Amino acid sequence: MELKQLGEFGLISHLAKDVQIYHQETLKGIGDDAAVIDKGDGNVTLISKDMLLEGIHFDLHYTPLKHLGYKAIAVNVSDIAAMFGTAKQVLVGLAVSNVFSVENVESLYAGIRSACEDFQVDLIGGDTTSSKVGLVISVTVIGTAKKEEVVYRTGSKANDIICVTGDLGGAYAGLQIMEREKQVFLSNPEMQPELDEYEYIVERLLKPNAKSDIVHELKEMGIRPTSMIDISDGLASELFHLCKASNLGCAVFEDKIPVDSRTEQALFELKLDPTTAALNGGEDYELLFTIQQSDFEKIKNHPEISTIGYMTEPGNGKKLMTRNEHVVDLKAQGWVHM
Ligand code: ADP
Ligand code: MG
Repeated sequence: MELKQLGEFGLISHLAKDVQIYHQETLKGIGDDAAVIDKGDGNVTLISKDMLLEGIHFDLHYTPLKHLGYKAIAVNVSDIAAMFGTAKQVLVGLAVSNVFSVENVESLYAGIRSACEDFQVDLIGGDTTSSKVGLVISVTVIGTAKKEEVVYRTGSKANDIICVTGDLGGAYAGLQIMEREKQVFLSNPEMQPELDEYEYIVERLLKPNAKSDIVHELKEMGIRPTSMIDISDGLASELFHLCKASNLGCAVFEDKIPVDSRTEQALFELKLDPTTAALNGGEDYELLFTIQQSDFEKIKNHPEISTIGYMTEPGNGKKLMTRNEHVVDLKAQGWVHM
């Protein structure tokens, strides 16, 4: 059977079904943003791993190594935030070809150190090897949380409100612009790209932020989401994960999906639809979570949180209420890297 018939998520569930858990402290293995290990003292350790491959996740024609190092850490910290935890340590696995200079690897590490400072995580180890196929960065992140505080993908109930942090579609718009400029550059190397007006979306693509600060704010506001996931593969795909984990449907309002005006402007120029970019683009690394209706008052004026819909009984399916008041089925195409 060809791998593409199963797809990434199909493959993971296929492999996971024969995996045994031998230790009772393994509270959660495969299937969430991070694994959850009981420390026995009321706290848990959270562990996750995310890998970035040249030619699949990034293109060195337009990805500065410093940004790439930063992103490799940020996307991992994001998975710990998605468990409602705090990232503490990272390990960095590096496969690097000999076309790289020492200065190149130093740039990558300058970005890694900068992210470690921003997110207050300690780089505690890793592994280094040569590569014949391109650059690979594989990061493992370790975090902590109180056992009772952990938020899983599962746990929401019908009528819980669906919330999203920040804005969506920006990284996808950034990718389209960078791909366009790359083609221009390849056909005429004299042409230097004019990227000033795209600064916001290019940064969304190249140097994403992890929303750990929002996790702390929610805790201070006394809100514990009923379920949560980070948005790495597009809003639709992550909504599907939440619905599947809690066996629910959902209703999302198109006009509530947050898209920044700078993202809209670039997408308009590219003749792409903002809703499609938000639903099916990827790499925004915002948090998607559900809260009880009784918590709505606490967050309704938060500038960085949008409420976009609500969870429904499973029989209602996964629906998008469009701007012109049609009800359509949500489709999760997921994020096909590059
Ligand atoms: P995320 O998008 O949050 O990084 P993924 O979709 O990559 O999550 O992974 C979903 C779950 O599958 C996670 O629990 C992850 O640890 C697990 N997983 C992914 N790949 C593998 C693999 N090759 N073997 C075992 N578990 C895996
Ligand atoms: Mg995740």
